[in-house]
Amino acid sequence: MEKIHVSVRAKPLSQDDAKTSLWRISGNSIAIPNLSKFDFDQIFSGSCATAEVYEARTKDIVEAAVRGFNGTVFAYGQTNSGKTYTMRGSKAEPGVIPLSVNDLFRIIQQDVDREFLLRMSYMEIYNEEINDLLAPEHRKLQIHENLERGIYVAGLREEIVASPQQVLNLMEFGESHRHIGETNMNVYSSRSHTIFRMIIESRDRSEDEESGSSCDAVRVSVLNLVDLAGSERAAKTGAEGVRLKEGSHINKSLMTLGTVIKKLSEGAESQGGHVPYRDSKLTRILQPSLGGNAKTAIICNITLAQVRYSFVDTLK
Ligand code: ADP
Ligand code: MG
Repeated sequence: MEKIHVSVRAKPLSQDDAKTSLWRISGNSIAIPNLSKFDFDQIFSGSCATAEVYEARTKDIVEAAVRGFNGTVFAYGQTNSGKTYTMRGSKAEPGVIPLSVNDLFRIIQQDVDREFLLRMSYMEIYNEEINDLLAPEHRKLQIHENLERGIYVAGLREEIVASPQQVLNLMEFGESHRHIGETNMNVYSSRSHTIFRMIIESRDRSEDEESGSSCDAVRVSVLNLVDLAGSERAAKTGAEGVRLKEGSHINKSLMTLGTVIKKLSEGAESQGGHVPYRDSKLTRILQPSLGGNAKTAIICNITLAQVRYSFVDTLK
């Protein structure tokens, strides 16, 4: 299988934080001089634009998705480290999701040999419950598997989309229907994972003319852009009640994700080894887009003001 690309994106530091932070970025390493050093595939400092982060690897994954490869891009990191900024972006600086969607539409418009149908879905996983953000009444959805469809979330709405603007409008609709007040939004969103998904179906136009509709000519692939729950809860102890429940679910899914990615990068799947996809909803939903020929990238969002050894360690 293909190597999983791990990049780090540092959030711009405030002037005060910049004075006190011990961490330095140099090349593709992040280090406290003479003490500690960690290497990644790529590191983006606070002055880098989201477009650069996108170009580094996500763009390839988007292009591959049009060619029929499933792909997944994760934003991982503590709350407030810039995951949502990286994925959704702001008005002034579009995030990975709008950049991907624009590219997707541009690429398929240029492909005159194939006919495309694009669908999108948008879901969140909160406390191991799957909620449909495009159909707010669809809550606690179940994961099913059959021969025809493979692994799928039963009842999840898939909207056919014809333009980038339509996709972005649907995303906004999804966000506005989260059952949470504006003021609690960041707290809530930091405890849930969101999976934005584009399903790309295409068929060869020439096959159509020559031999009627041939099943072989139909290609379906899935692109997942995932804004993960805040990773700090994986380490926090001492919480009680609802927070404890949330924390243990996040713990479980981020740890399972970590184990799955570790197993995949060791080649466990191709060697017939066990990969524990079923241990969390997140990994189970993403199973068809993580193993096999799928392409995966992880963007680790960090704030150099707050990096702890244990956090950097979990990325290794
Ligand atoms: P997270 O989703 O990881 O909790 P956010 O994406 O919500 O974090 O970012 C926290 C705050 O920092 C937001 O106000 C966001 O606009 C700002 N921010 C994050 N990354 C950047 C960046 N690269 N440039 C400018 N502002 C950023
Ligand atoms: Mg967020």
